[in-house]
Amino acid sequence: MTAALLDGNATARTIKDELRSDVEALRARGVVPGLGVVLAGENPASAVYVRNKTRACDELGIFHETALFPPSTTTEEVAAKVSEYGRREDVHGILVQLPLPPQVDASRVLSLVDPAKDVDGFHPENLGRLVQKRPRFVPCTPAGIMELLARHDIAVAGKRAVVLGRSDIVGKPMALLLMHADATVTVCHSRTRDLPAVTREGDILVAAMGRAGFVRAEHVKPGAVVIDVGINRVEKADEARDLLDQARLPDFERKGYALVGDVHAPSVREVASALTPVPGGVGPLTIALLMKNTVKAAGLRA
Ligand code: NDP
Repeated sequence: MTAALLDGNATARTIKDELRSDVEALRARGVVPGLGVVLAGENPASAVYVRNKTRACDELGIFHETALFPPSTTTEEVAAKVSEYGRREDVHGILVQLPLPPQVDASRVLSLVDPAKDVDGFHPENLGRLVQKRPRFVPCTPAGIMELLARHDIAVAGKRAVVLGRSDIVGKPMALLLMHADATVTVCHSRTRDLPAVTREGDILVAAMGRAGFVRAEHVKPGAVVIDVGINRVEKADEARDLLDQARLPDFERKGYALVGDVHAPSVREVASALTPVPGGVGPLTIALLMKNTVKAAGLRA
């Protein structure tokens, strides 16, 4: 079997196209949706993510503003910006790009985000609403995955779903969304015993662990749908040769690095029925759902 490719770029494009008319309708009422971004420190990946997000804003006619803070910034400085965005009429969504520098108290900062502008869905109030199945803003990555499944007619109800990873931003909300869609859900983590036996139970397997190419064929039930959330940078040539398809090697050699997921695509592709690529899978959906949440926040305000 060769797994079908679940094209995140195409699905993200469709979602953004659908949003255009919503943005136009808001603009016609004098409301320009706005996103306030906080980027602290000098993490190159974070800078790329913010650039991709603000580029999507530009595509859709969403106003954006990014506040930059040096690596030495304090909780107070970041918190003050988040509070300012909370007060501003032209900012409907607030995005605090993670990770924050280690000395900044991330949970305090996130809890200061106005819950009505919390387009990442990380505020305790929004996570609580999600737990109670009356969501307002759902974290963008798991919400994007649910859209991808729905738009590829992949049924969830009654299926066994396994989520590999239990973070607050991906694993936990992913498990809740799958459970609310009537899957029977198992959540795995670094203390799970006999991991391959557990992950092999999944008709749907979501890998969100941050370990390059960790999920191999032995982890996957034949015919499963595999969603690869991981984004990992590979710089060593031997690792690249193991993890990348032949066709990507020249690009790796030119750039000196490549991005890979948590799934070892060359082997898993032979067992799974469908697989998201990295790049071009979950990443673009995360951005599309951020746009969707921002437009929704502007609509709620208007
Ligand atoms: P975290 O580091 O917060 O969580 C990783 C989870 O994986 C933890 O629950 C951890 O277990 C588990 N884990 C790690 N190693 C193992 C192992 N060997 N066996 C079993 N479980 C393991 O990561 P995030 O959830 O924030 O992100 C996960 C990945 O997804 C990263 O690569 C990140 O870059 C990517 N990502 C991609 C996004 C996208 O848009 N595509 C968006 C967000 C993240 P434990 O809890 O026991 O430590």
